[in-house]
Amino acid sequence: MSATQDIKPADTVGIGREASEKQSRKEAARSDALGFDPSAPLLEVEDLHVEFRTREGVAHAINGASFSLSEGETLGILGESGSGKSVTAQAIMGILDSPPAFVTGGQVRLRGVDLLTLPEESRRLVRADRVAMVFQDALSSLNPVFTVGHQLAEPFRIHRGYSKQEARKEAASLLDLVGIPAASGRVHDYPHQFSGGMRQRVMIAMALALDPDVLIADEPTTALDVTVQAQIMKLLADLQAERNMGLILITHDMGVVADVADKICVMYAGRIVERADVHSTYGNPAHPYTKALLESIPRVDLKGQQLATIEGLPPNLTRLPDGCSFEPRCSWARERCRVDDPPLYDVGAGRQSACHYYEEVLGS
Ligand code: ADP
Ligand code: MG
Repeated sequence: MSATQDIKPADTVGIGREASEKQSRKEAARSDALGFDPSAPLLEVEDLHVEFRTREGVAHAINGASFSLSEGETLGILGESGSGKSVTAQAIMGILDSPPAFVTGGQVRLRGVDLLTLPEESRRLVRADRVAMVFQDALSSLNPVFTVGHQLAEPFRIHRGYSKQEARKEAASLLDLVGIPAASGRVHDYPHQFSGGMRQRVMIAMALALDPDVLIADEPTTALDVTVQAQIMKLLADLQAERNMGLILITHDMGVVADVADKICVMYAGRIVERADVHSTYGNPAHPYTKALLESIPRVDLKGQQLATIEGLPPNLTRLPDGCSFEPRCSWARERCRVDDPPLYDVGAGRQSACHYYEEVLGS
């Protein structure tokens, strides 16, 4: 199949017709020649392994994570701090620093192409065109010395070959798209001149510039207050639906994903311990860790009171236990759990749980 079949009309990028004609005149850096198969699944992460080689030892950060994402679908990746959510995202993006990080196994297939085998130059193109990411901390992800308009215009100039003027126009319409008031005036402002919520909108605009097929949002609202959080989540959900993107939403807060995710993966110690559609999980978790996470959702009616937290700490990733890594913190744990690491069992209705006693958990 010809790779050019997969080129999208520029209009779907939110780029005007006029600009799209100019685009055809000037060759620009695109990822189309990398052999993506439009009929292959959008994103498949299979048996991913990542380790950090440090002076303290080898930290086994990701230990065989598998999941998939279709167009128009939202996957929530959940887990406490340190469970491997960001490392998973960075592995998909190809932005892990190596050393100390090494991908030691698995595949990250985008439309059938294993991104992990691509040279850096190609990965850079994929990052621009197909897989984009929104980070938690917008201020440190934006360059303080350039105007927001300049930074938003850059991808259009580099990857689409637009003139400076055309690119500026796109920048303004992107700001407008993400709901920044008086967008055409604000392109001249610097990142610090935006509020936290508006900055996060700028980040989202930047991620969407080249109309990615997959958007990864890593704790996109964690630094924001509750009202703004809700607005940003709504913006992400709206844009995702409009563009039929695959969205990976990473969070440690199960409350955040309940409304927007179609399915979730719960991570613990670099493994996926539960995989399910969102509604069945919330109603009836199949893994003790998911249950504990659900019980730690901050509740409005308990405002001011101590939040429920999960007792104990995650395992040291340089010395993972032989058995289930959640065993020391688990109230269902038996002798077997100490020695026998549970696989991801099928627990019915397309759900999986890595707990030997999932039946008891489901019934509890
Ligand atoms: P989170 O779920 O909070 O996003 P991360 O994916 O950032 O967790 O990290 C998972 C684990 O990977 C950490 O607990 C840590 O052991 C390891 N790790 C992440 N980044 C580094 C690093 N730069 N150097 C060494 N270890 C790291
Ligand atoms: Mg993280």
